[in-house]
Amino acid sequence: MAKEKKQVREITSMSEDFAQWYTDVVVKAGLIGYTSVKGCMALKPAGYAIWENIQHELDKRFKETGVENVYMPLFIPESLLQKEKDHVEGFAPEVAWVTHGGLNELQERMCVRPTSETLFCDFYAKEIQSYRDLPKMYNQWCSVVRWEKETRPFLRSREFLWQEGHTAHATAEESKERTEQMLNLYADFCEQVLAMPVIRGQKTEKEKFAGAEATYTIEALMHDGKALQSGTSHNFGDGFARAFGIQYTDKENKLQYVHQTSWGMTTRLIGAIIMVHGDDNGLVLPPMIAPTQVIVIPIAQHKEGVLEKAEELKNRLSGFRVKLDATDNKPGWKFAEAEMRGIPVRVEIGPKDIEANQAVLARRDTGEKIVVSLDELETKVDELLKQIQSDMFEKARAHRDAHTYVATNYDEFKDIIANKPGFVKAMWCGDRACEDKIKEETTATSRCMPFAQEHLSDVCVCCGRPAKKMVYWGKAY
Ligand SMILES: [Zn+2]
Repeated sequence: MAKEKKQVREITSMSEDFAQWYTDVVVKAGLIGYTSVKGCMALKPAGYAIWENIQHELDKRFKETGVENVYMPLFIPESLLQKEKDHVEGFAPEVAWVTHGGLNELQERMCVRPTSETLFCDFYAKEIQSYRDLPKMYNQWCSVVRWEKETRPFLRSREFLWQEGHTAHATAEESKERTEQMLNLYADFCEQVLAMPVIRGQKTEKEKFAGAEATYTIEALMHDGKALQSGTSHNFGDGFARAFGIQYTDKENKLQYVHQTSWGMTTRLIGAIIMVHGDDNGLVLPPMIAPTQVIVIPIAQHKEGVLEKAEELKNRLSGFRVKLDATDNKPGWKFAEAEMRGIPVRVEIGPKDIEANQAVLARRDTGEKIVVSLDELETKVDELLKQIQSDMFEKARAHRDAHTYVATNYDEFKDIIANKPGFVKAMWCGDRACEDKIKEETTATSRCMPFAQEHLSDVCVCCGRPAKKMVYWGKAY
């Protein structure tokens, strides 16, 4: 088995070199291919199928809250991008510019959207006149471009896929509520569908989105102890509305500015799934997001009746996303391949199983094998997939909790950041200077001020002055 595995695809072990392990998995599980376009990747069928499942599940949840899908242009004229001062400053260093149309230089250059707040604002300014036009709750599925210097598959690439929701409301209360609602929707999605526990909280002033009044975030902990921002939801108040002149007449016929939000999730989530659940045999996919949930592998398939029986089992399991591996590779090779691709359940069926009216179910997450009667195959597979989904969440939560530390003074803080990968909970005075100092001296950043605040001590972990907030700190992707 070990030899056959090696022959299939060898990957670096996690403990040896986590970064190399990650790269090996994304390539060898067939998720991406490198392209001749610098900093951009090709999503292969196995990778794109995960995105399609994410998209399907999120889209359904968005629509249940009244969101509708639209599509905006790919280009943003420079004058439009410059209307909101903080926003343009935040994005200017990483936008790509279009300067020519065919052979002619453009009168005004246009950037390729890094995000579409300005386009939505321009659009809303034309669409919204009366309180009757509100709220507007639009989302678009698209790609955006950010000219990153260093890129890594899924985590940072110059073009990536995402969704961006943009809403406009009559009041400040409504936009705040919507910002929270979408953050909670993201958090529930990560926990229920991706089996990935997250911390819900607010970004500090330093870390918030360019042009936002407040940014809410969900932060997940990867297997190597680094944090990954997994989704954000921004409350703009009426800042963008003032810059773009988005006004409506209220019921008393008075002119008012709208209040806006935006929120997004990206293909980064696939990187998170890999780094939260993966192991030394490759990808481990939560059943709810796995493109293939069950793979049937015949043993001694050259023997009479085996392939037919395997085919029959595959058909019986058609209520799941199921595949049959009927290639002429050896079973050990097929096992390793299915493991590399993260398929949650493997069904083994051979001559002896057929004789005994049974099949062997193997779990990808634990490696455990269970013998089941063929009479109850569908029920057992269904139960097992549900069990795997919830066990994967619990395992990830236990890992996160075991790698979450408390620091009450700066020496302790520095020691933890240097020696124990994970989240550090510590009190903070609210001053940007302390946040900058911590980042400079430890490379840890403030991940969020969690909604679930705890009182760990009275003073800031960095300067010793009175503390205002408990903050999650950590090294991040
Ligand atoms: Zn301080």
